[in-house]
Amino acid sequence: MNVTIDFGGTNIKIGLIRDGEMLAKISIPARSGTGLLSRLPDVEEGIRRLLGEAGTSLAACGGIGIALPGIIDGEGKTLLSIKDKYTDALGFDFAGWSQERLGLPLVVENDARAALIGETAYGAARGERDAVLVIFGTGIGTAAMIGGRVLRGKHGQAGILGGHLTTDIYGERCNCGNPGCLEAQASHWGIPLRAAKLPGYADSALAAETDWGYASVLRASEEGDAFAARLEADLLRHWSAGIVNLIHAYDPEVVILSGGLMKSAARILSPLAEMVREQAWTPWGAPRFLAAGDPETSVLLGMSYLADRHDS
Ligand SMILES: [Zn+2]
Repeated sequence: MNVTIDFGGTNIKIGLIRDGEMLAKISIPARSGTGLLSRLPDVEEGIRRLLGEAGTSLAACGGIGIALPGIIDGEGKTLLSIKDKYTDALGFDFAGWSQERLGLPLVVENDARAALIGETAYGAARGERDAVLVIFGTGIGTAAMIGGRVLRGKHGQAGILGGHLTTDIYGERCNCGNPGCLEAQASHWGIPLRAAKLPGYADSALAAETDWGYASVLRASEEGDAFAARLEADLLRHWSAGIVNLIHAYDPEVVILSGGLMKSAARILSPLAEMVREQAWTPWGAPRFLAAGDPETSVLLGMSYLADRHDS
């Protein structure tokens, strides 16, 4: 049994997991604008509360797994790079914190990689060995597995920067510095910034919305908003281009889609898969598409899988 923590942009999720079974979980506000380190006392309190509610204790746990939306060092110890949020955690000794406060070993991993491990070990893609995963969340996170091995690479970057593959060389500059990243054109945070510059925006119902993203576009399009319909078609082109890039790079048999956009899977999964199949060069056949069964927990399950196998 172990404790896993997913530091998302909005919520910090904490799970208690044994052999791929979620025994209990809680969520606390991330307040990510104020940093990560200031949230650790509340995280510790959350862990103790979770254990108490489950009628167990730290002594029964084998370790801690922490998922972060950034680049992690090869040994799973610390955060090397992250954009905008949680920057105060760069280089932080998470294992030292865990040993001191909880007396348990700890492993850190990128959140999309953890989700891919969770989905292939316990979830919708159980048993798959050649897979890519795309999380359409606030940003766009990705991960890749080849022959059962999750790619990490020399600098911890392999497979996870799919949101920063270029889908428009004349496009919006991304917060990573590269012009035209998929994430800057077609992620939850990128969509409103780019849409506001497109012709017809002022006439769209979207112009009156605040803090909007995937769901607003799809809803407005469904309700007959002409601008939103054009934007939806444009987003499908960006999303499919990003996925085709991943397929050409990593040769997967399965493409797993996750994140908030999958709440609209019934509307977009099939047209997206069809576009990708038309565009991708895969003479061996067509990659299958799967929607993550429970995007909220796949990251936690993946971290538990890693914590079970981590030596420190
Ligand atoms: Zn980028």
